[in-house]
Amino acid sequence: MKFFEVLKNLVFVPKCLSCDERLLPVIEGNGRGRMCFCEDCLKKWDQARGNICPACSEIAATCSCLPKFFKDNQPSVPSVCFYNPKSNDIKTIAVLKMKRINNSQYFEFMAEELYPSLENLFFEMGIKPEECLFTWIPRKKESVSKHGFDQGRELATKAAKMFGASVKPMFFRFAGEEQKTLSKKEREENAMDSIFLLGSGIVRKGRRKRKSFAEGKTFVIIDDVLTSGATLKRGVELLRSAGAAVAVVACIARTEVKVKK
Ligand SMILES: [Zn+2]
Ligand SMILES: [Zn+2]
Repeated sequence: MKFFEVLKNLVFVPKCLSCDERLLPVIEGNGRGRMCFCEDCLKKWDQARGNICPACSEIAATCSCLPKFFKDNQPSVPSVCFYNPKSNDIKTIAVLKMKRINNSQYFEFMAEELYPSLENLFFEMGIKPEECLFTWIPRKKESVSKHGFDQGRELATKAAKMFGASVKPMFFRFAGEEQKTLSKKEREENAMDSIFLLGSGIVRKGRRKRKSFAEGKTFVIIDDVLTSGATLKRGVELLRSAGAAVAVVACIARTEVKVKK
């Protein structure tokens, strides 16, 4: 750990993501998750992240209960765990905290947790990670100014670093509605109306079409949660329309699949 980090931890004592217990600033040999969870919560986290999908009995990273769009686009959606936004279990608490607390160690930890399934996807698709561009779907402006950061950007940055890849902002966002209050169809429409490619101009009416930056490149869109997938789908479609060779998505948490009775 760098000296500055040590100092920062002494001043802003890190707290457990789940129970808010103060964590000891570990100077030597800080093991996995030590700056994010207390010992008890780390055990609970490890147990909880292994939860399987009630529909297909797979863990989140290999569960194939996905919207058709994603199934057609990539063999799996790399992820760390399932979560239920209405629950207050350890996964939900940890996932929701990433939206509110800008702690680079939380993001680093989550990116590390995501690493194996993302690496697996790269392997399956024959993608060279170091040639990828990592990007994210921006939060709404109000939420960025309220919390002072964009968790998508933080996660994309940490994940890219792990793979020796670059990060590149590709999208911008207009106000739009709050996704969580909308139906699936409304979410798709809302994503269409509020997320656009940076530098594309909102409506491209010009006759001359310049070669786009995305042309022939491989993109990975990282998000904190995947619910209906409407915003991520929009992101993939935009990148494809700009000529991207490959555009895949990965997330930290997927909402639990509901089993139809
Ligand atoms: Zn704890
Ligand atoms: Zn499943």
